[in-house]
Amino acid sequence: MSDQVQGTARRVRARVDGTVQGVGYRPFVYRLADELGIAGFVLNDERGVLVEAEGPPEAVAAFVERLSADAPPLADVTAVTAEDLPATGGAGFEIVPSVRGGAATAPVTPDSATCEDCLAELADPADRRYRYPFTNCTNCGPRFTIVQGIPYDRPQTTMAGFVMCDECQAEYDDPLDRRFHAQPNACPVCGPQVRLVERGGERVAGGDDAVVATVADLLDGKILAIKGLGGYHLACRADSEEAVARLRGRKRREGRPFALLVADVAAARELVELGPEEEALLVSRERPIVLATRKPAASLADSIAPGVPELGIMLPYTPLHHLVARDAGVPLVLTSGNVSDEPIAFRDEELERLEPIADRFLLHDRPIATRTDDSVARVVRGGPLMLRRSRGYVPASLPLPIACPRPLLGAGAEQKNAFCLADGTRAWPSHHIGDIKNYETLQSLRDGAAHFERLLEVTPEVVAHDLHPDYLSTRYAQEREEAGLVLHGVQHHHAHLAATLAEHGEAGPAVAAIYDGTGYGTDGTIWGGELFVGGLAEYERVGRLVTAKMPGGERAIHEPWRMACSWLTQMMAPLPPAFADIEQNRWNMVARMSMTGMGSPTTSSAGRLFDAVAAMCGVRLEVSYEGQAAIEFEALADRAGGDPYAFPMEAKEMIVLNPRPTIMAVLADIGAGVPVATISARFHQTIAQATAEALVIAAERAELDTAVLSGGVFQNRLLLRLTADALEQAGLRVLTPRLLPPNDGQIAYGQVAVAAAQLAAG
Ligand SMILES: [Zn+2]
Ligand SMILES: [Zn+2]
Ligand SMILES: [Zn+2]
Repeated sequence: MSDQVQGTARRVRARVDGTVQGVGYRPFVYRLADELGIAGFVLNDERGVLVEAEGPPEAVAAFVERLSADAPPLADVTAVTAEDLPATGGAGFEIVPSVRGGAATAPVTPDSATCEDCLAELADPADRRYRYPFTNCTNCGPRFTIVQGIPYDRPQTTMAGFVMCDECQAEYDDPLDRRFHAQPNACPVCGPQVRLVERGGERVAGGDDAVVATVADLLDGKILAIKGLGGYHLACRADSEEAVARLRGRKRREGRPFALLVADVAAARELVELGPEEEALLVSRERPIVLATRKPAASLADSIAPGVPELGIMLPYTPLHHLVARDAGVPLVLTSGNVSDEPIAFRDEELERLEPIADRFLLHDRPIATRTDDSVARVVRGGPLMLRRSRGYVPASLPLPIACPRPLLGAGAEQKNAFCLADGTRAWPSHHIGDIKNYETLQSLRDGAAHFERLLEVTPEVVAHDLHPDYLSTRYAQEREEAGLVLHGVQHHHAHLAATLAEHGEAGPAVAAIYDGTGYGTDGTIWGGELFVGGLAEYERVGRLVTAKMPGGERAIHEPWRMACSWLTQMMAPLPPAFADIEQNRWNMVARMSMTGMGSPTTSSAGRLFDAVAAMCGVRLEVSYEGQAAIEFEALADRAGGDPYAFPMEAKEMIVLNPRPTIMAVLADIGAGVPVATISARFHQTIAQATAEALVIAAERAELDTAVLSGGVFQNRLLLRLTADALEQAGLRVLTPRLLPPNDGQIAYGQVAVAAAQLAAG
């Protein structure tokens, strides 16, 4: 300030809120101050970043303006609030060490794909990080998967055990360096190392030799376990039917499609149809697996995605994945490192589990703090739709339209579980926990929630949960009640509705069709084909599908022919030829169950209706994962569309959608030899049209203009598109999930949105 006359200088204190820690924000502020000739300081505190800036008034104004306008790529500035202070006449600008104290709301950021600068170093033989698999900087690299506590500083990450060499330390200490305070900063001298080992642990190679040998093994058709960012993957070359079939056999992953890793967008384009939205998702720093339509000419093993027209593709998101994908030069299967439905392995102690599957293991010595699966997304109606929101997105927060008066935890549902923490107007949906059907996944829920509570320093007082008494997530909520939290039950489909409204920043009311697999209703039956009028705080069930029995309960999910049997028995309809091979005794037993209701809950589930019709058409009598028959039925639909079948609706006080005449028409088409493609197209059109008509009636009655579509069945793109189009043609505004999946991955967020609104309303 020596060249200034004191009194003409202006000093401000600016508070920067949002995701501004661990993203290179302070060095950015330092460089900005340097450029504009500003004196003062910047520091990280419990809320975010605090800056004091002094200089000529125009320079200070420009400085404050650019704090948000020019923020670095991984930062997400939500607010800059500046207040004037008396000028002090100080000179120079410095980065002051972190201040600790009070509650932390400064968010930890998600893991981010390798940036262009780091990639250039990776490929430069003259660079000291040439082919170093853990290259990162403040603009990219691991975050959530290595963080163990806050503030986000190296000792609180799984990099704590690696002492930086002099060169790395100099980068780390230099405010003008791209690696200034890059907590995972590392190089081949001081950082984590890879090694290739045999089953049993015998070392084959280390360093770059390990990467080279891994690629040679892959090209040789072997199955490799590769330690990644959030867990282990299993990899093999995707163009070898022999390798893929062997992986499928060993993994016991029956029909589920495998995801693929390719080196770049050009390689992805060889395999799938990519529109601009798909491409944007693929190259985004979140790097989800993107589902896209397979090209007929793609030379890939048939058993990668049997019966499904889409492939899941991802681009490399760590330097290690870049090296392996580029060196291999062929598409690779990169699927989660687990057997069947277990959670993916992420600790080295768990490697035993993968011994029966992998021929060799590419390991490294940087521990993974939290198991984080790859995210999955697709493009629907011109925008992205998350099908699994995990690595790359977590722990970013979503807004809550109605603030919670007390900190909340949502325990989620049983399937595709993710929990959700909330405080004030922010909610933090967790990484994907999985299907909580055993002790191991229940333990992941417990550990995950404890980790989130530490990380975000949010101590929940209320735990929102599903009404289903047998869900392990409900049991977990009860455990928390014993530890002093207040239980708050939220109906399953209300949570679907609320999650969809809330992610769009809305509180409702709206009309909604929630079409789902199964969810616990308030009348003791299983719901899943529901028409609601409601908002965050309350809902009314204004309509539903005609119910049917689910013979054998859960078994009807895995054997869709049972649902077909249930409907056909109820209707006394003739059997289509698809069921000719089912043993008479078995059929009779299931038919009897559906009549007596013995071991057969009543359900209005739309998912089970799709299963039944798919089975009648002979698509699949038994499935290896929920919804498989319906997914393949959708895939078969004639793209030219089809005329709807009859679908009577009873619009008394309760709107009841009756699919019996539709099923009769489907049976007639089957009898007449109409192709399944046509039947599928007609059936989808029917459900879409009936749903839209019912919602229009509900909207007129309630004088509302917004319709919500959600629930697991709306992962069906064709159904979603047809229904949304019909609603928009009728003049309604349509809200569908985007940021969280329509499946039960959105339930926990919905639970906290509902609980917050209800608690706020008293
Ligand atoms: Zn980088
Ligand atoms: Zn180093
Ligand atoms: Zn559901």
